[in-house]
Amino acid sequence: MAAKKIHVVISQGQSLNPAKKGLEEDLAARLIMEPGVDVSIVPHLYDMGPDHTGLLHLRKLGGPVIVLSWLYPRAAHWILDRQGIRGREGTVLLQEIDEEEEAKENAREPGIGSTDAPKRFVYCLDLRIRNRAEPFLEEVRRIVREQTAETVDLNLMGWISGSPTPQQTERFLNPLPIVPAPRPAEPTTPPPAVIAPTEAAADLASAPALLVDPVKRRWYPVIDYSRCTNCMECIDFCLFGVYGLDTLDRILVEAQDNCKKGCPACSRVCPANAIIFPQHKSPGIAGADGEVAGLKIDLSKLFGGGAGDNALDMAVAERDAELLKDGREAVGAAVGLKKRQDQKPAREKDELDSLMDGLDALD
Ligand code: SF4
Ligand code: SF4
Repeated sequence: MAAKKIHVVISQGQSLNPAKKGLEEDLAARLIMEPGVDVSIVPHLYDMGPDHTGLLHLRKLGGPVIVLSWLYPRAAHWILDRQGIRGREGTVLLQEIDEEEEAKENAREPGIGSTDAPKRFVYCLDLRIRNRAEPFLEEVRRIVREQTAETVDLNLMGWISGSPTPQQTERFLNPLPIVPAPRPAEPTTPPPAVIAPTEAAADLASAPALLVDPVKRRWYPVIDYSRCTNCMECIDFCLFGVYGLDTLDRILVEAQDNCKKGCPACSRVCPANAIIFPQHKSPGIAGADGEVAGLKIDLSKLFGGGAGDNALDMAVAERDAELLKDGREAVGAAVGLKKRQDQKPAREKDELDSLMDGLDALD
C-alpha cells in the first residue's frame, strides 16, 4: 500500500512584502520536490471566511496537516479549530523556546478543550521565526518521518485495521516525549539558490493546490480552548453581540464580524488569557505564549482604586470608545463585570468611610 502523503499548507501573508513573498515561493518550490507531502497554498488563515475555497479544501484533508503561516502557532491552531479543521496540537521543534513560559504553561489550569477533534495532528509553524526556507524544510521532513513511523507503527499494531488494544490506545493518546535533536548552528553563508527540478526529481513533484481567491482583512477574537474555562466573562463584557453559546453551552465566537476593528478589549478581561486577536501588535494578545500585553490581571487592583492604567481600565475605555463610535452611551465599569465585582476584595476603610460610620452611629 502506498504511504499516504502528509499535507503541507502554506498560508500567505497579508502584505506584499517581497521578502515574505520570496520565502513563501521558495518554500512552495522546494516542498513540491519533497517526497511524502502534498502542498496547498491558501490566503491568510485569519482572513478566510467560512465559505472560502481554501477552507473548504482544508476541511476535506484527512490525516496529519502541517500549516506554515505568519501567525503564532497558538493563534493558527485555534483559528483552524474554529473553522472546523481540528486535530491535536502536534509538537513543533522549530520554535523559540522560552523556558519560563513553558513552566507557566505547564502550571496553567487546563481549559475545556476542543470538541470532536479527530485523532490526527495539526502542526503549526510560524513563518516569522526564520527568514529562509531550509529550517522549515528540515522541520517538515522531521514531522513526515515522525508521522510515517507512527503510521507504520499503528498499522502493524492493528490500530488502523480496526481494534487497538488499551495499551495501543494509551500509546497513541500519550505518545512518548520527543527529544529534540541538537539544533544545528545557523550557517553564515547565503542560502542555496532554488535548484530547478531534474527529470528524475520531477517525478516526485506535483503542483501545489492553489486556493488563493482574494480575501479582505478581518478582525475578530479567537478562543484558545486549551485555556478557556468557560467562565463567560467575555460574553458578559462584550456589548456588541460577538459571543454566543454552542449546543453544549460552551462559549463561542458566534458573530465574528460584529467585532470592532482594532478593539481587543475582551482579551484583557479574560482571566485565562484565552482570547487571541492574531493581528494585534502586542504579542501577548496576538497569541504568543505569555500574559496579555505583559499585563497580568490583578483582581485586587481591579476595583480597589489607585490602579489607573491596569488592564481592566484599558478594556473598559476601549469598550466605551466603541460604544460612542456606534452612537451609544459609554457604560464604564458598571456593565458586564458583575462576576469581577463580586470577587472584589473588601477595601480597607478610609477616613471618609470612618466619618460616615461615625455619623451613622450618631443616628
Ligand atoms: S472570558 Fe476567557 S475563559 Fe472565560 S469564557 Fe471567555 S474565553 Fe473562556
Ligand atoms: S474586542 Fe470588543 S467588540 Fe470585539 S468581541 Fe471583544 S469586547 Fe466585543
